Amino acid sequence: MSLRIRLVALFVLPTVLMLGVVPVASAAGAPDSLGLSATYDVSANLQWANHRLVVVSTATVTNTTASAVTALTFNLVPAKIGQIAMNGVTVNGSAAPASLDDMNVIVNLNSALAPNAAATVTIRYSGRLNSTNPNRKWLFAERHDIATAYRWIPWLSNRYAFKTPLFGDAFTTQVASRVDVSLTSDRAGMVYAAPGTRTSVNGNTQTFVAYNVRDWNFSASPDYQVGSETHAGVQFDYYTIELSQSLFAANAKKAFDKYVGFLGAFPYSRMFIAETSPGFAMESPQGFWIPDSYKPADVSFAVLHEVGHMWFYSSVGSNQAAEPFADEALVEYLTRTMAGFRGPRCATANLDGSVYSYTSDCYYDVIYIQGSNYLNSYRKNVGDTKFYAGLRAYYNQYKNGFGGTKQLLTALQAQSGVGGFHARFPSLFPIGQ
Ligand SMILES: [Zn+2]
Repeated sequence: MSLRIRLVALFVLPTVLMLGVVPVASAAGAPDSLGLSATYDVSANLQWANHRLVVVSTATVTNTTASAVTALTFNLVPAKIGQIAMNGVTVNGSAAPASLDDMNVIVNLNSALAPNAAATVTIRYSGRLNSTNPNRKWLFAERHDIATAYRWIPWLSNRYAFKTPLFGDAFTTQVASRVDVSLTSDRAGMVYAAPGTRTSVNGNTQTFVAYNVRDWNFSASPDYQVGSETHAGVQFDYYTIELSQSLFAANAKKAFDKYVGFLGAFPYSRMFIAETSPGFAMESPQGFWIPDSYKPADVSFAVLHEVGHMWFYSSVGSNQAAEPFADEALVEYLTRTMAGFRGPRCATANLDGSVYSYTSDCYYDVIYIQGSNYLNSYRKNVGDTKFYAGLRAYYNQYKNGFGGTKQLLTALQAQSGVGGFHARFPSLFPIGQ
């Protein structure tokens, strides 16, 4: 997520509290399902006139852990902000008990799933698309003639709370090798911005397939204008109503070229950029959202930032809730190689906290600003050659998997020989490292 815009106002009160590292633990009864793998086959009805999304999602889950599993945790944002009605859960075709816990759906299996065994879990729900944006309701909304659906496919995860101190993405999901989605709308002429490839159009039904994605978010509008171009062998698709496609394109290509130079090849063959209703810029696998409320300078900054998330978050995943440094500090560093670095406005704080550790006043300043400055100082210390060799090694080791703050810093140290991380990351690096 790109947070630069609203934060200026928040710095009027430079609160400097840093509450310490809060462990992101599973609640009792909400198992950690991050270690399992799944593919997803999903159909949904986008009821434009009713502002509803009616979903039937089947996950084919394989137990890739060493232990038998008796329950599964799925992350589902509409469970928290979409006033959802559950329409039944089945496991291998038989009804299974399920419960909602914050933005988590916990499905109890009728019989334990042994290591290497597979089960099909079908979750049916309908949710209301919001018409207001506070409390991040814009993640699941229909506003300004644009529908947005974020983390709407129930996806294997750990148990996280939707609410963070104000900012921060608490979404942590494993890459699925394949996701099939069929979207049907009661509104003709719907245009969808989504990951992967559209495979068919049949009346008001469109089907899509995506490979190696850790989420499948979409926005939709009958008013979208679509512009496409190929840049350095990658297809860029722009979906806009009010915003400037040329502004999207100029910044996307600038960031793309810069980051490819730093990191090596772009992870995907395509990237979409979609205008959405007021909220924040938000990354997805293979593309991102830019809200129509952004002014041109904010659009430019956000596009530079979100393109960086295609490498880090999208390809190299991380525990966004527990380790925002690996996600946002790194992407903000990339962004500010073009947009410029700036000094912090909050007191110096540790960089190893979770999204729940920081105050709303200082989360952005510590993680994004102090975090990007930390990486920039480290780069100056070790030199560009070793620093970017470390970033490339980190990307190549963890693409389509999970990295993290410790893995990132360890990869940098392996190339540069320079550590000294204890001072700002004491929970990850014991004294002396
Ligand atoms: Zn971000």
